[in-house]
Amino acid sequence: MKQEIEEIINAVKAHHDLFKYSLPMIASENITSGTVRTLLSSDLSHRYAEGTVGHRYYQGCDHIDVIEGKAISYAKKLFDAEHVNVQPISGVNANIAAFFALTEPYELIIALSVPHGGHISHARYSAAGIRKLHVENHPFNSKEMSIDADKMVRMIRKIEPKLIVFGASLFLFPHPVSEAREAADEVGAKIVYDAAHVLGLIAGKQFQDPLKEGADVMTGSTHKTFPGPQGAIILCKSDIAHKIDHAVFPGTVSNHHLHHVAGLAVSLVEMIEFGKDYAKQTVSNAKELASMLYELGLNVICEEKGFTESHQVVLDVSEHGSGSNVAKELEQANIIANKNLLPWDDVDYSDYPSGIRLGTQELTRIGMRKSEMVEIADLIKRVIVDKDMDRVKTEVISFRKEYQDAHYCFDGTKAYEFNYR
Ligand SMILES: *Cc1c(COP(=O)(O)O)cnc(C)c1O
Repeated sequence: MKQEIEEIINAVKAHHDLFKYSLPMIASENITSGTVRTLLSSDLSHRYAEGTVGHRYYQGCDHIDVIEGKAISYAKKLFDAEHVNVQPISGVNANIAAFFALTEPYELIIALSVPHGGHISHARYSAAGIRKLHVENHPFNSKEMSIDADKMVRMIRKIEPKLIVFGASLFLFPHPVSEAREAADEVGAKIVYDAAHVLGLIAGKQFQDPLKEGADVMTGSTHKTFPGPQGAIILCKSDIAHKIDHAVFPGTVSNHHLHHVAGLAVSLVEMIEFGKDYAKQTVSNAKELASMLYELGLNVICEEKGFTESHQVVLDVSEHGSGSNVAKELEQANIIANKNLLPWDDVDYSDYPSGIRLGTQELTRIGMRKSEMVEIADLIKRVIVDKDMDRVKTEVISFRKEYQDAHYCFDGTKAYEFNYR
């Protein structure tokens, strides 16, 4: 093999080995089933299908129409949604499309600030800024780690935004969607719920159901708690279906990723079958991990509220070095997680935030339950408090050996294998 190519293949193999023998705890990641992985390398990844099902700009799309039509109908079924668009190629792309559909430049929106857990795409300097939107931030209660609903309702009536955005990246508890609906109607605002992190939990009916609670639109990445291929989906009420579709194509997407659409269709079938069990286990694993870490003396936030209602567990590690240092120490022990800004951090010091965010969705996907969470809490504590990285790494590698298959799907054996022929 040509050496340059061999070096690339070797790096991919090394990457696979790292994830095969680590604890994958980044809260925004997951693994797909074997069937989905096969579809992602199919010929669909070479093709164009601008337009919508039955109305394409290119020839050769008959089978693509079948696939995309199925993805849409399974998504409607799973989320009980009136309208679905499966074409956004990422969560940020889906948010940009929603902003284009529902606002005009220079209008006002309300969204969560980044230090309070909001995503960068809700900010002026990112996707909201691409639409030239003015952003005001939700009033936030840092102790409760949630939006202050009363203050929010007063703010909606006072500043009369065009759009109210819910959803977050640091996301422990549901957001006050139903509380916002009446005030939104009074001032003529729409509600967008960004479900990037919690889409899989919503699919499994273990988190709030934004569309039922009054959101007009739900956007979401399809690869975080939803264990599908990287990409995104938009679900909405039928009265704005045309606006959303038009904002996706030709608004913000030219060609969508057809291999992703096929993979998504399969992931939707998996979630219709197994979603409830998977989501239930994911949340109960997060609660177990949080309470075990707390018992071991770590500063897990929101003890009074039971730590979490999602897949996330958040630690304040400022006593043990910054979040950046602790994340690197965890990596030395093959525990893959990330630092995170917390509400009480000074944003100017954002390279050294005090938080660590842990997710249980991928651990759940590979078959782990409460007893495994107890062991993992102990391993994490021995890194963060005792700084015993070398011994923990050896134990993580041997602990991981038994968990190599994806669960909650029809075809998940050897989920971390990479065979290059
Ligand atoms: C991850 C995330 C996104 C972005 O999704 P991508 O698929 O990475 O583009 C958007 N919103 C929230 C709340 C997120 O956490």
